[in-house]
Amino acid sequence: MPTTWHIRYQGDLLHIEDIALSAIADAFETPCYCYSAAGIRTQYEAFTHALKDLPATIHYSVKANPSLAVLRLLANQGSGADVVSRGEIHRALAAGIPGGKIIFSGAGKSPDELAYALDTGIAQINVESHEELEQLAEIAASKNTTARVAVRVNPDIDAQTHKKITTGTTDNKFGIPWQEAETFLRRASSLPSIETVGLAMHIGSQIVKPSPFDDAFARLAALAEEMRSKGFPLQTLDLGGGLGTNYENDAPLKLKLEDYANTIRKHFGALPYRLLLEPGRALVADSGVLLTRVLQEKHSGTKRFLIVDAAMNDLMRPALYDAHHDIVPVVRTDAPLSPAEVVGPVCETSDTLARNIPLPPLASGDLLAILQAGAYGASLASMYNSRLRVPEVLVSGSKMAAVYRRPDYDEMLKPECIPEWLDEDIAK
Ligand SMILES: *Cc1c(COP(=O)(O)O)cnc(C)c1O
Repeated sequence: MPTTWHIRYQGDLLHIEDIALSAIADAFETPCYCYSAAGIRTQYEAFTHALKDLPATIHYSVKANPSLAVLRLLANQGSGADVVSRGEIHRALAAGIPGGKIIFSGAGKSPDELAYALDTGIAQINVESHEELEQLAEIAASKNTTARVAVRVNPDIDAQTHKKITTGTTDNKFGIPWQEAETFLRRASSLPSIETVGLAMHIGSQIVKPSPFDDAFARLAALAEEMRSKGFPLQTLDLGGGLGTNYENDAPLKLKLEDYANTIRKHFGALPYRLLLEPGRALVADSGVLLTRVLQEKHSGTKRFLIVDAAMNDLMRPALYDAHHDIVPVVRTDAPLSPAEVVGPVCETSDTLARNIPLPPLASGDLLAILQAGAYGASLASMYNSRLRVPEVLVSGSKMAAVYRRPDYDEMLKPECIPEWLDEDIAK
């Protein structure tokens, strides 16, 4: 059975750290996300350890899992944050990550967001277009401050991952073409409210081969050295995130953290830049499960369908990226396995959580764990079909707490209103 050291069977019951998932289901009902604090902490430590001889800092990419508790846990480890919206800055600050450790990335930032970021004393803003540079310069000038800016270059390297999470080719909306970096830097240096501190890139997500990183880092290193030789005083290189995780847990990991770190060392180890890393998925994916209950089983044609209480709105990855998640029963049995389609109750054929998953016979009410749901799980959830947002539970040893409590149906209606004139119109 594909499990990890922090999510594994003890006896016949699947545990997350020291707590049986069945106990979590009893306490918080299903569906619910469960995260292992030790798992996230260990991943963070593995990252810092792999990079310990390099002048590198970690800025956790908030969008992978923006839970305040997860952010606090990482803040306590010393992590900074990589954010892509005002809301994420707000979260990072609320979790205790100071502005001075936050990097603001993102393909489009509104004037409000830029102004707010400057007010927090943000460490660095990664600018993605010539127009954004001009807007930021104006806003910073109006505040009598200077903005520390890196230019996000598009290295035109195919990350060889799913097309919806590729960001570093010229056909993507992200960054400016690397050939325009010099023009950009020249303009930025002429603006008194802008301090140009570095270059940034992020070529995509769920990258499981060394070659895209190797190619992109080579290009970034060469570009940085060229720009430095032309007199631009670059201090930081932001290498983005993108290190993939092993969603098929029985398979050996295709790109190990150590090999990723070695690729960084190879290109930047001898260069004078501070390195900024923005891992998201690699820090949290393995430490989360989505716990769900079987509602019904039915057979149609040759297929065995398990209808469960979690759905595509709770875990979008399979529908959005054709992503695979392993699914295991919470109670292990010796009964023979047969392939099942695990589907949710949402009225869409794409509401399929996994295809062809070998599972034992299951009855209504039985629990299943959808593995490696710690990244881009809860963060991508929606309320489609008026399904309430899934609660999230953090476990540490034998302690557990709801870090996102299950909302109620009145809360769902709260931001909405029915204008009085709707009924007046009817009365006429
Ligand atoms: C999403 C994102 C990341 C994190 O990507 P992962 O694949 O989760 O590591 C890092 N940097 C930027 C700019 C991003 O948009």
